[in-house]
Parts: sequence; structure tokens; C-alpha cells
Amino acid sequence: MKKRPDDILKETAARFAAAGVPEPELDAWYLMEACFRMDRTHFLLDKRVETELPDHQWQRFCRLSDQRAKRVPLQQLLGSQQFMGLDFRVTDQVLIPRQDTEILVEQVLQDFRDRPKARLLDMCTGSGCILLSLLKLGDFSSGTGADLSEEALAVARENGRRLCVEAEWIRSDLFSCLPEKKYDVIVSNPPYISGEELETLEPEVRDYEPRMALYAPENGLAFYRRLAEESSVYLAPGGNIYLEIGSSQAAEVSGFLAEYGYKEIRVIRDLAGLDRVVAACLPGKGETGHV
Ligand code: GLN
Repeated sequence: MKKRPDDILKETAARFAAAGVPEPELDAWYLMEACFRMDRTHFLLDKRVETELPDHQWQRFCRLSDQRAKRVPLQQLLGSQQFMGLDFRVTDQVLIPRQDTEILVEQVLQDFRDRPKARLLDMCTGSGCILLSLLKLGDFSSGTGADLSEEALAVARENGRRLCVEAEWIRSDLFSCLPEKKYDVIVSNPPYISGEELETLEPEVRDYEPRMALYAPENGLAFYRRLAEESSVYLAPGGNIYLEIGSSQAAEVSGFLAEYGYKEIRVIRDLAGLDRVVAACLPGKGETGHV
């Protein structure tokens, strides 16, 4: 197949734009880069030169762009997403790691900079992106990732292997299958989207990301209530919890944590200025919480 790279880019971008893809030209470029192993400099220099493209590369490009035009997320097509500067494998069985979630990881790293060797638990670990980036970038003594989905745990396990990070993976519906053990930090980005809101999301999310990673009953709040209630059994006295939230959920989630005795409840904003994380501390021995 002989083609001018610039023509491929323009034709593909136009097709994506017609399908409603939010960043058509960028996505067309990423697919070209991955399928034809093109780099930006060569593209800019040679974009109007007819180029011979191997058949198998062209066929793969056509297949992936057909799927992107159907709004399959780019990360599922390419099989990876960067998070905290690390490369995570993703499939249609895990939530695609979001930049907003980096706020949670950065806050934990900052709070534990001078408290080495803490034991970590990541509830609803999905791809493992939160747990593995904390273990890779911080100084923690151990990490456990729990998820209800066996398929998600397989992806998390593979991510651990690729990043050369040791972690324990447990299949569990929240805390139900966890051995009774104490952790110093519990982190979680649980499903928090209500049924009503789910229908308003982009097709990439609504139709292709796993619903069980997104949807939560009780107006999106069901998992926070259970996390607030059950986590206190697994947190060591003085331990910390960090929950990613939807931007309108700070008051309710803070309320659940207060109800179950947590103190030092903080709401942390993301780079867009939206409430993104609620953090709290379990009272140490002899202290009382906000009950
Ligand atoms: N912990 C993973 C993430 O933050 C998965 C979260 C989920 O599946 N709800 O990306």
C-alpha cells in the first residue's frame, strides 16, 4: 500500500470527527504512530512523500481505526495508558487509569514521605494503577490489591510483573474475603457513578469500560458507605484512608467517615479545582473520633 502520511492523517481524522470522537486528529496520529511505527519528526519531514506501508501494518491500522470510529477507547485499542509516569496495560476488563486519580497517589506519597514502611491496601484495584504506582514511587513495606473481578486482577498481576513490583492480589467483594489483618493505609477509587449519570457519559466510557468499575447504587454512594463502615476493622490505630470521589460527593462521603469515627477529614481538589479525594484518619489508641 502506497500512501502519503498526511493524507492518512487527514482522512482518518475526518472520519473520527464525523463519528464524534473528541480529539480526532490526535487519536488518528496515535494510531498511525503505533501501527506504522512513525515518529513525529519523520512524519513532519516526510508527510507529503508517498510511502510504502507493509500490508499487515495497513490492515491493523484499518481495523483499529474502524473500532475507534465506533468509539472504542484508544487505550483499549493500544492496550496501555500512562499513569504517574508509568506504563499500565489496560483491557476492556479494567477502568482506564485517569489523570484525576494521580491526585490521590500524590497525596499519599506526600503524607507518607516521612513515615516509611507502611502497609498498603487498595480496595477495587482494577488495573492496579494506584497500588503499583505507590509501591514503585514510595517507601511502603507491602501492598495488597483487592477486586471483585478475577479478570481485573489478572491485568493488575501482569502490571505488577511488568513494573517489577511485588504485591498481593485478593479476589474479594470489598472486605468480605480479606484475611483479618491490619493496614496503615487504605486507598480506594471505588465505582461512584449513579445510573442516571452513567447514561450521560461519552460512549467510550458508557459502552466500553466495565460497568462494574463505574456504577454504584444509592446515587453513586453505596461503596463509600460500606468502605467507611468496614475499613475501620482493617486499619491500624492512627491509620489513614484515601477515597477518590465524584466532584459532588464530598459532603456525603465526609459524613460517612465522621459517622464511623474517622477524624482529620480533608477534601482534596484536583487540578481543575474540583473535589476529588476525601482523606481521613482513624483515631489512635486512647483517642476518640468524631462519633
Ligand atoms: N483503582 C483503579 C483505578 O483507579 C480501578 C478503579 C475502579 O475500577 N473503580 O483506576
